Amino acid sequence: MINYNQVTKTISLEVYGIKNANVQYQLSPEQLHEITVEKGLGKEASSGALAVNTGEFTGRSPKDRFIVKDDITKDRVWWGDINIPFDADKFDALYNKVVNYLSNKEIFVRDSYACADEDYKLNIRVINEYPWSNQFAYNMFLRPTEEELKGFDPEWTVVNAPGFMANPEEDGTRQHNFAILNFSKKIALIGGTGYTGEIKKGIFSALNFILPVFKNTLPMHCSANVGKEGDTAIFFGLSGTGKTTLSTDPNRSLIGDDEHGWTAGNSVFNFEGGCYAKVINLSRDNEPEIYDAIKKGAILENVILDKDGHVNFEDISITQNTRVSYPIEHIENIQVPSTGKNPKNIFFLTADAFGVLPPISKLTPSQAAYHFISGYTAKVAGTEAGVVEPQPSFSACFGAPFMPLHPAKYAEMLSEKMIKSGVNVWLVNTGWTGGPYGVGTRMKLKYTRAMISAVLNGDLGLYNYDDYHIHSVFGVAQPRECPGVPTSVLSPRATWNDDENYYKTAFKLTNAFRENFKKFEAHCNEEIRRGGPQRYAF
Ligand code: ATP
Ligand code: MN
Repeated sequence: MINYNQVTKTISLEVYGIKNANVQYQLSPEQLHEITVEKGLGKEASSGALAVNTGEFTGRSPKDRFIVKDDITKDRVWWGDINIPFDADKFDALYNKVVNYLSNKEIFVRDSYACADEDYKLNIRVINEYPWSNQFAYNMFLRPTEEELKGFDPEWTVVNAPGFMANPEEDGTRQHNFAILNFSKKIALIGGTGYTGEIKKGIFSALNFILPVFKNTLPMHCSANVGKEGDTAIFFGLSGTGKTTLSTDPNRSLIGDDEHGWTAGNSVFNFEGGCYAKVINLSRDNEPEIYDAIKKGAILENVILDKDGHVNFEDISITQNTRVSYPIEHIENIQVPSTGKNPKNIFFLTADAFGVLPPISKLTPSQAAYHFISGYTAKVAGTEAGVVEPQPSFSACFGAPFMPLHPAKYAEMLSEKMIKSGVNVWLVNTGWTGGPYGVGTRMKLKYTRAMISAVLNGDLGLYNYDDYHIHSVFGVAQPRECPGVPTSVLSPRATWNDDENYYKTAFKLTNAFRENFKKFEAHCNEEIRRGGPQRYAF
């Protein structure tokens, strides 16, 4: 059970420049739920969960994410399309506009923290225009005890004003929405977008700078769980590859579903206090733990309810990125606190829409470093007219949009930790089998789960070469047998029934890998470069 703190203290927002606000400090999730419904900003679903629409934005907007260029960041951040610089004076001017906008309004304030390991705790104050965004902060950040709240000293502040529209010409933004990190002032300033993911990923991005630069800790875009023997597993992957789905495993205790740190002291800790799951096509049969987490306290985003308040998870008329947030306690089997020891297994999840990567394969240390820097997944041929082929998508460290430093910095830290801890690294294709998107089908969740369980239970021999086939194109070690999985599924080529097209498509992908890797080559030693695919078409 969650302990819903009833707090009597209140705070003033004048120090932030927010004048005359009607401050609603640290309301309980029940109160925020009620206020949201009363104001007509959301509805209660039949499950008891709150359902809201996030408005114009139903996903993050990476092109509108900026970092203030100042003494702390100027020589450390990897500036470019991902980390777009923002002028410090422009920030101050825009900040003043936002706090003026928030003045004289009812404002929802929540004190919380990130990082489940005491030694890394980061206190956060979240200031929201909307009650449901404040409930999202309750769900996703860690919840301080009443004792901790008494002397609470906020370090970072999130100012979240979805209704404020910037004027790009005057404010220096690209368009009316923005998410800006200011490391000198320790502020994440978010406006013009109600997408809640900006709040959690704002703090994630801040930690991705703070932890490696000041705390010798590797931040990771990954989920994590732990088995009965205390064996930690972590799952890296880009959006939609299965971090949340596969880490939610009834046989293992969940540490966290999206953001973790790996310390120099051989431990792993969750940054967050909740989960943020995709709910597209969610079914109780396939994902019972997540399905049952959708109850009072959870917040559904951009789903369609019928007249009785039932959610139709197949309905993607608002967006494919339908979501639910809930406190981690909504999952039955969790690790308390959300920490673990050095991982024993690392999974790199990729949704290969070309259908050419093996469903599971073991990587050597150089292959692991290569694939980590590449961060491959694929975008499926979407609803856009004319796009009939899957598009390869590379995102360094499986999370480039959130990484303020050069990817090589994170890769170096990971390599070092992998070698020191002797962790096993696996590449898992949760994408297509039997052909590319449009021809083949998505890998059955049941099979992916069986492959992961086999690794975790020690049923896949670690490096008995006879048990593995070295893939002639990718060079990775593909197991020949796996309990719970038809043998034919383990070889992607065999599932195609068309060798010529299989190899053609595989070469298309390896060429994309090579093209993408060019920009990192100068930063990587021979050892890492050797980890790439073995054969390319010319
Ligand atoms: P994000 O970073 O956006 O939170 P994520 O990595 O956590 O993304 P999930 O929320 O786990 O991604 O989404 C994976 C989706 O793919 C789910 O909707 C899941 O049901 C679906 N899926 C279908 N087949 C598989 C499979 N074989 N393995 C994993 N997920 C699968
Ligand atoms: Mn997730």
